[in-house]
Amino acid sequence: MERKNAWKTYDAEKLSFVNALSAEYMEYLDHSKTERECVDTTVNMIEKEGYVELEELIRSGKKLSAGDKVYAVLMNKFIIMFQMGTKPMTEGMNILGAHIDSPRIDVKQNPLFEDNGFALLDTHYYGGIKKYQWIAHPLALHGVVVKKDGTIIEINVGDNENDPVFFISDILIHLAGEQMSKSAKDIIGGEALDLIIASKPLEGEEKEAVKAGVFKILQDTYDFEEEDFLSAELEIVPAGKTKEAGFDRSMIMGYGQDDRVCAFTSLKAMLEIGQTDRCACCILCDKEETGSRGATGMTSRFFENVVAEVLNLAGEYSELNLRRCLAASDMLSSDVSAAFDPNFPSVFEKKNTAFFGRGMVFNKYTGAGGKSGSNDANPEYIAHIRKIMDDAGVNFQTAELGRVDAGGGGTIAYIMAAYGMNVIDCGVPVLCMHAPWEVTSKADIYETKCGYAAFLEKACL
Ligand code: MN
Ligand code: MN
Repeated sequence: MERKNAWKTYDAEKLSFVNALSAEYMEYLDHSKTERECVDTTVNMIEKEGYVELEELIRSGKKLSAGDKVYAVLMNKFIIMFQMGTKPMTEGMNILGAHIDSPRIDVKQNPLFEDNGFALLDTHYYGGIKKYQWIAHPLALHGVVVKKDGTIIEINVGDNENDPVFFISDILIHLAGEQMSKSAKDIIGGEALDLIIASKPLEGEEKEAVKAGVFKILQDTYDFEEEDFLSAELEIVPAGKTKEAGFDRSMIMGYGQDDRVCAFTSLKAMLEIGQTDRCACCILCDKEETGSRGATGMTSRFFENVVAEVLNLAGEYSELNLRRCLAASDMLSSDVSAAFDPNFPSVFEKKNTAFFGRGMVFNKYTGAGGKSGSNDANPEYIAHIRKIMDDAGVNFQTAELGRVDAGGGGTIAYIMAAYGMNVIDCGVPVLCMHAPWEVTSKADIYETKCGYAAFLEKACL
């Protein structure tokens, strides 16, 4: 039952594919540090390949037929792509789904304050983070400020070569006696995660002169005022570029690989496939890390509405046909999986663990404490997927997220399974998941992309 190491199966040509894909992926990550940036980067890529925006098609009154490529975006944070198949939509779609939000620290609505010569931004973290990992670490600020007249100001500071960075301070070890005796979750409290953004008083200013200095910079550079923070969405993310890791450059270390590694590989598979029988669909959604709520989360009706529009443009729309299309679909719900960590072996059960280099991971179920909250894929569907992967020569492995009772986690799989479609969790193994810098294996990224493409091209069960 032990799975092959994918690296051992590569010849020189395959290795060049692996490296080319990784290089493109690193570039994608660097341009996609927020869900908005990720949607922008994605739209730029797919428009070059002939994808047309759904609203444009609706306006022009054009119909959809086999081979046509269409996409829809909601609130700049949720994107769905379709490549039309030769079969009617009612025979179902082959769907890939990943999320493009990542754990981070968000700026509060009323954030700016001065404290003893420092100007700081108050924050509220997003998703599951070990707060202590984000302190004494160079941070960047990405996001938008929307003014009352609707003007959108884009903020992106900390990631260009000459940019300053920001940071959250940590106490020196010499004075950390009390801190070091605390449990890890209390090393720094959520309210103590304040971002230090300035320390120089504005000339001629008496009261809160550092804060005044920040205002002046914000006004001069971005033309926004303090009240505009009320309608801002600013995300604090690790500053710096994605790097290759290891002497052998076999791994990639970068921010936000959960789950942009699955988003990128899904996207690449969509762009690589030829004409398929069934409609190929790729969903890149937001809000997974906070429970998939909100208009841009997977529980919203956006996906269903867009499928209805696509059915309509394909000349097949009825409420019943929509239900039939969704129920007949197959899905790979893609999210990262915990890779075996040689420094923490005790939380893994080795027979059912994902290992670096052994390829794409399938998880029959996720969940916690007795599979709670998981979508448990049907064995008939798993057999079908195994055949697709074996026929295509994809290196894959199966895994659970750690030992039974060690913890657990969820994905968007159960939300899609509600339509009655076949869904299985799968994705790329990751080390240091949810840390500022996450690590993946180049071989697994390549195998996962190949697995997605094979899945999109094969007919239904
Ligand atoms: Mn995830
Ligand atoms: Mn996650």
